Amino acid sequence: MATGKINVSVENIFPLIKKFLYSDHEIFLRELISNATDATLKLKHLTSIGEAKVEYGNPRIEVKIDKEGKKIHVIDQGIGMTEEEVKKYINEVAFSGAEEFLDKYKDSGKDSGIIGHFGLGFYSAFMVADKVEIISKSFKDEPAIHWTCDGSPEFDLKKGKKKDRGTEIILHIAEDSTEFLEDSRIDTLLNKYNKFMPVPIKFGTKTETLPKPEGAKEEDPAPTQEVDNIINNPNPAWTKQPADLENEDYKNFYRELYPMQFEEPLFHIHLNVDYPFNLTGILYFPRLTNDLNVQKDKIQLYQNQVFVTDNVEGIVPEFLTMLRGVIDSPDIPLNVSRSYLQADGAVKKISSYITRKVADKLSSLFKNNREDFEKKWNDIKIVIEYGMLSEEKFFEKADKFALYPTVDGNYFTFEELQEKIKGNQTDKDDKLVILYASDKEAQHSYIEAAKAKGFEVLLMDSPIIGHLMQKLETSKEKISFARVDADHLDNLIKKEDAQISKLSDEEKETLKKNLEEVIENKSYTIQLEAMDSNASPFIITEPEFLRRMKEMQQTGGGGGMFGMGSMPEMYNLIVNTNHELVGEILNTKTAKKRERLINQSLDLARLSKGLLKGEELTNFIKRSYEMVK
Ligand code: ADP
Repeated sequence: MATGKINVSVENIFPLIKKFLYSDHEIFLRELISNATDATLKLKHLTSIGEAKVEYGNPRIEVKIDKEGKKIHVIDQGIGMTEEEVKKYINEVAFSGAEEFLDKYKDSGKDSGIIGHFGLGFYSAFMVADKVEIISKSFKDEPAIHWTCDGSPEFDLKKGKKKDRGTEIILHIAEDSTEFLEDSRIDTLLNKYNKFMPVPIKFGTKTETLPKPEGAKEEDPAPTQEVDNIINNPNPAWTKQPADLENEDYKNFYRELYPMQFEEPLFHIHLNVDYPFNLTGILYFPRLTNDLNVQKDKIQLYQNQVFVTDNVEGIVPEFLTMLRGVIDSPDIPLNVSRSYLQADGAVKKISSYITRKVADKLSSLFKNNREDFEKKWNDIKIVIEYGMLSEEKFFEKADKFALYPTVDGNYFTFEELQEKIKGNQTDKDDKLVILYASDKEAQHSYIEAAKAKGFEVLLMDSPIIGHLMQKLETSKEKISFARVDADHLDNLIKKEDAQISKLSDEEKETLKKNLEEVIENKSYTIQLEAMDSNASPFIITEPEFLRRMKEMQQTGGGGGMFGMGSMPEMYNLIVNTNHELVGEILNTKTAKKRERLINQSLDLARLSKGLLKGEELTNFIKRSYEMVK
């Protein structure tokens, strides 16, 4: 029919395609199957509006490997192309047929689900093939065509023999791309990119086991048959209406997405919006460990059911990248840099929509079934706390449902907590002091002491909690956090139990001198307090501020705290002047015995705070044995 020269600009484009345009050559298959899907959906649309007077039937796409002939075939039963159309759509690279189609059927074509905007599409075939053939028969009553091109701008176009409607693309695989002639390679690709495409895709056959016929013996093998191997699920859960799905359907879809995940997700969020942008999807909250690095199964981004990437950075707010699931949106610009993506208005809107939906879902879980929400809290808190820290909008919403568990397993919202401790845990400056423990075991004696005073002690053990506390302290009025073993505790104790000291001022001075003589370590600031006689004689506390700085330095982040060098060790040694042992220290006649009492008590206090280690601990134990002997 014709031979000719493709548009001049192509000459420069071919090497570009091969070298620069797609770093991943493997996407050629996605592109060709996308075209085949488009062609099929276009036909569906045209038959539905009566413009194509043919039977739509149950079309499918087939991928075939001819290993011997070094060829890959992609065959569809879509609208096909006439000679005119091949010239126009294939030969004129820059021309996007999909775009023209959309234009033409703008009003009636809303639901036809055309995949386009993948850039070069068809020509990506030349990344792996040194010769490409198109054999196509249009749904219109026109002869079939046969187009051949070896990658140079010259092409050959003649009449084809094809009888049935549709298009067959034949790739003659180049020497450097023979990996794509392996079944396993193609199978992997189909699974990666085409698992949820809307038209069934056949790749080879598989053996299916049939039920045994009646009266078959036990040892008789079950009969089998060869059936088409359809690799995709054309109707994935996210394309359906939430009202049409049961909880079980969501779980099944999760397993479909992540076959290697054996744990069930905690809950899901179905996303569904069509204005001002188009987005569907399902997000899952998995059980999260504190180890944020183990994150293999990520959120997958699709465009009209074609897999694009599992790097959703910039599209999904960072704190939600820990979730799993699928997002499908044709409105996300691809093939652009990440920084461009982040600045894009539509993408920003998408990101804040997702944040809002997640917050709303959490809020409704909290409201509708608080008991269940509390049970799940430990597994989801890291995402919520991270979100509260990084997204102001999320903070505003989450502040109402974020939970603060006590060491005894009661859960308060922040507001409830404030209500609960008001009056009882107010310090000299009229600030609410929220006590917390970060380690129930290590801080046991302090927790007990605080509880004995009727204080609530929270258990705050996630890795970023220090940052969140700081955020709460700055965004709320008149509150401060203090770990149970922190110095803030002294303020509370003082106010609560204004005990009368058993010691006179003179005795106190002597005691202080005695203590200072023995305790040479300058890290300890000695403080005499009149406390309950049942409270410990020596208690070590640490300034909250210093300790938190140290912790945040370790977990990284915390803006601007790098390079501050190592923090000094600083502790308060609180000596309970009402304790019997302290009285004994004061009244001992021999300096030697006094020294022993002080050292032993100090070591016990250090042991209780977890500060006694190594050689000091060994010596302490040795000394203690000597004493009990
Ligand atoms: P895009 O898909 O972005 O428009 P392509 O280069 O992939 O760009 O394809 C160009 C055009 O060629 C398509 O828009 C379509 O009109 C036509 N085309 C490609 N593949 C097929 C096919 N399998 N069946 C029918 N038409 C096709």
